[in-house]
Amino acid sequence: MTPYLISNNKSLCTGCRACELRCPKNAIEMQYDEEGFLYPVLNENICIRCGICVKTCPINHKLENNSEFTPIYIGAWAKSIDYLKSCSTGGICSLIAEQILSKKGKVFGVVLDAKTHDVYHCLINNTEEQRAMRGSKYVQSDVKRTYYEAKLLLDKGVLVYYTGTPCQIAGLKGYLKKDYDNLITTDLICHGVFSKIFFDAEYNMYCKWYGKEINNFKFRSKRHFPWYRGGVINFDVKGRHVERYAKYSPMYYAYTFAKNKLNLRYSCYNCKYRTISNREGDIMVGDYWGGSKLYPEFFSVKRKKYGISLVKINSRKGYRVFKEIEEKIEFFTLSEDDACQQPDLKGIKRDIPQERYYIYQKIMEQDYEKYAAEFMKEPYFKYKGIFDYYLQFVKNMIMGSPLYPLINKIRNHGNN
Ligand SMILES: Cc1cc2nc3c(=O)[nH]c(=O)nc-3n(C[C@H](O)[C@H](O)[C@H](O)COP(=O)(O)OP(=O)(O)OC[C@H]3O[C@@H](n4cnc5c(N)ncnc54)[C@H](O)[C@@H]3O)c2cc1C
Ligand code: SF4
Ligand code: SF4
Ligand code: SF4
Repeated sequence: MTPYLISNNKSLCTGCRACELRCPKNAIEMQYDEEGFLYPVLNENICIRCGICVKTCPINHKLENNSEFTPIYIGAWAKSIDYLKSCSTGGICSLIAEQILSKKGKVFGVVLDAKTHDVYHCLINNTEEQRAMRGSKYVQSDVKRTYYEAKLLLDKGVLVYYTGTPCQIAGLKGYLKKDYDNLITTDLICHGVFSKIFFDAEYNMYCKWYGKEINNFKFRSKRHFPWYRGGVINFDVKGRHVERYAKYSPMYYAYTFAKNKLNLRYSCYNCKYRTISNREGDIMVGDYWGGSKLYPEFFSVKRKKYGISLVKINSRKGYRVFKEIEEKIEFFTLSEDDACQQPDLKGIKRDIPQERYYIYQKIMEQDYEKYAAEFMKEPYFKYKGIFDYYLQFVKNMIMGSPLYPLINKIRNHGNN
């Protein structure tokens, strides 16, 4: 049995479903725990102790380091403004997806169901469906049966592109058991995921504030808050667009802003998949946070608005795909040290904060808004969020004005 099934230690399971999908007796069923994270549950009565799940579970794997290929690091962004506007960072995942689709290949990516708010992996067949895959969703995505579906296609010789968090790519590799020349994978830079229970609590708070008809929810957009401010909550309500900076979102606050991250899956605290060297994907993609200090010449006002992707090309297959999209991107090359600016890429160990042990319980038991105000130590986050939005709106107008280069020049002169 898998390390999690033996020990019940939640840090030893990423919820990838590989064991469930591989079990020849259907003895493993994935179930949500009380916090809304998926874990395998074993039916001992039908388990034949064959050990297949142990060999499949990525927790047991030695990570492949693609050692025959010397990695290439680049800062990159799509030339197309449509990709820049609709994608989380530089649009690299979506460009690759479109490239694969144009070669009659199939793509697996993550979508957010507008009605149920479920976040899950699915098969994407065309450009229209690809649009739904754009943008990061920070809830843990359920891979469902996509490893199985991908294998069917791979065995038929179809070109397949699979994107996911590093643990999901490790799960896919564990499930497949062999390398396929027709499989391209992208693993995202990832500091962790939270569960849908948190998302639902926050979503319901916005419904309380703005009315039940909110739709088109997105975790990130660059419509008013620029990329470098690192995340926003967006939705439409009664024909109006609402955008709130992440600092005033309790869900984001617990996710990225609070020290040590408070609402992550347990396996995210000491994750072996997310460092820059231990990568199983052919191409790693994330945000080039920290890059503006090293390469200020590339971080113009426009780039800060739309974002620069950090890309690591990790294998020959990854390099092949990079060459195919090269014409559609702008990029500059980096050393590994320059690429490795985020603490998560350095593999720094995180302790599980005390609050993590009861945060989900609290948000389910208490009024979310009241509890959020308590842990954010910010009773007026509702109003401050609105204030910050309008402030950003004015800032953007100033930055977009023809006088801005002159203002900037005067400001820089004052700083010298
Ligand atoms: C949970 C999570 C945590 C992240 N943490 C960091 C971080 O700490 N630092 C950093 O630099 N970057 C992080 N990223 C990556 C970053 O947010 C962008 O997704 C990445 O830069 C790709 O941008 P893009 O413009 O190329 O993608 P787009 O072209 O916008 O495509 C988005 C891609 O993300 C995939 N995706 C969306 N949601 C999920 C999900 N829940 N699970 C798996 N795949 C998903 C889609 O399938 C698609 O391939 C994280 C992403 C996720 C999903
Ligand atoms: S040991 Fe075999 S039968 Fe039992 S759960 Fe694992 S894969 Fe299934
Ligand atoms: S295979 Fe995946 S879901 Fe199953 S125990 Fe291992 S990590 Fe958890
Ligand atoms: S931090 Fe690690 S375990 Fe958590 S979602 Fe990301 S890759 Fe998976």
